[in-house]
Amino acid sequence: MNAYSVLIDKNMLVNVFQTDVSEVGDLLHYKLFVYLGVFAVVAYIFTTKISIVYKGFFKEIFYKILVLFVSLLLSLTILFFTYKDVSSFFRNNDHFKSVAIPLNYINALVGYVKLINKQKAENAPQIVISEDSKLGERWKNIHKKTIFVFVLGETARAQNFSLNGYERKTNEPLDPIKKDLIVFHNTQSCGTYTAMSVPCMFSHMPASDFSISEANRYENLLDIIKKVKIDTTWINNNSGCKGICNNVKNMSLSSQDFIKKGEQTYDGFFIDYLKKAIKTNKADKQFYVFHTMGSHGPTYYLRYPSNFAKFTPTCDSADLKNCEVESVVNTYDNTIYYTSYIINEMIKYLKSTDYNVVLMYVSDHGESLGENGLFLHGLPYSLAPKEQKTVPFLFWFSDSFKKEFNLKSVCLQNASKAQVSHDTIFHSVLGLLDIKSSYYNKKLDAFAECE
Ligand SMILES: [Zn+2]
Repeated sequence: MNAYSVLIDKNMLVNVFQTDVSEVGDLLHYKLFVYLGVFAVVAYIFTTKISIVYKGFFKEIFYKILVLFVSLLLSLTILFFTYKDVSSFFRNNDHFKSVAIPLNYINALVGYVKLINKQKAENAPQIVISEDSKLGERWKNIHKKTIFVFVLGETARAQNFSLNGYERKTNEPLDPIKKDLIVFHNTQSCGTYTAMSVPCMFSHMPASDFSISEANRYENLLDIIKKVKIDTTWINNNSGCKGICNNVKNMSLSSQDFIKKGEQTYDGFFIDYLKKAIKTNKADKQFYVFHTMGSHGPTYYLRYPSNFAKFTPTCDSADLKNCEVESVVNTYDNTIYYTSYIINEMIKYLKSTDYNVVLMYVSDHGESLGENGLFLHGLPYSLAPKEQKTVPFLFWFSDSFKKEFNLKSVCLQNASKAQVSHDTIFHSVLGLLDIKSSYYNKKLDAFAECE
C-alpha cells in the first residue's frame, strides 16, 4: 500500500484473488520483507518489554467503557458542529474509509465475500444474449476470408502514445503505416483495473450500469460472435480472461510448442502465433483476441526483450519509488515502443495475406507513473486520475475489408474524431462485422455512419 499508493477495498481483493504467480512475483521486492521484518521486531519488543498493569477485571471493563463513552461523546460533539461538511465529504468520498480506518481490510473482505456469494447465488445458467444474432446482408458480397484481430492491451495509457501527441517517438514502429491507422485520441476506460475493465469491454452493459457480478450472469460479445459461426479464439499472455473466454477456444501463449519451457513469454511471440494460426485455420471467418501483458507493472523492464530498451536509463526493479521517475517513464515507454512494434509486425503480415482484415488495439486501463506520488493503477474510478482512465484505441483495416464491406477511409477517419469510451467496443465490433443483434445499439457504434 505504501509502495504503490493503492487502497484495499473489495475491488482490490478481487485483484488479489484473481491474480497468478507471475503477477505476484513481479510485485515482490526485498524491501517488503525488510519492512515487515522491522515492524515485526518493533512490535515484538513493545509487547514483550512493556509490562501492562491491569486494574482487575471489573475496574478494567469500567475504564474501557468510560474511555469509549468519552471518545464517542467527543466525536458526536465535533460531528454536531460540522455535520454538513462531514456528511457531504463522506457521500462524495466513499473510498475515504479505506484510507482512514486501519482495519478497513476486514470491511473489504466482508464486501468481497458478499460479492462472491451474490455471484454464486446468481450462478444459474447464463442469460443468453446471442439467441437472435445473425449475419447481415453485407455478407452476401463477401468473397474473401475475413479475420478480426482484437489486440487487448494492458496498462497502456493514451498520453504516452506519440500517435496521441506524446513528444517521444514511442509509436515509431508504426510510422510506415501511420496514415492507414484510425486513431481515437480520447477514449475513457470502463475501470481502472483488469478484473473490471476486461469483462466490461466485452459486455453489452454500458460502463455506467456495469458491475462484475451482474455482467457474469450474461453472455458476452464473444458468445454472439461464436453464435454466428465465426471461429473464435482467445490467446492469453496475461492473468486469465476473467471468465470472458469460457465458451470459446482459449489457450495460453506459454503453452505453445514454439515456446521453450520456462522462457520469458514476451507479447512478441503473438506475432508467430498469429502467422501460424492464420496459415492453418481453414475457417473462412475468424476472430482472435490477443490478451497481452503490454505495460503491466511494476516490472516494466520484464515486458520487452533487451534490444527494445530504446529509452534509457531504465528502472530494472519492482521498487519504483527507489528509481528516478524519469527512468520509470523510460522503462514504461519502452513497453509502449515494443507494443507498437508487435502491432506493426502483425499488420505487415495481415497485409500480405490480402484477406479482409480488421486489427483493433485498445488498452484495458491506464497507469500512474509518479504523478502526485501515485504509481500503478486500480484506484476507485471516482478518485483515479486521468492517467489511469484514458486509453489508446486504434484500428487498421485491410484494403479488401474496406472494399468488400464498403467502408470509406474518409468516413472512418472522421469517425475517430469522436470522444468515445470502452462502451463503444461491443457495438462497433458488431457493426463492423455486420452482425445483427437486438443488443446492438447504433448510437454506441463508433463507425455507424460508415457502415
Ligand atoms: Zn489491466
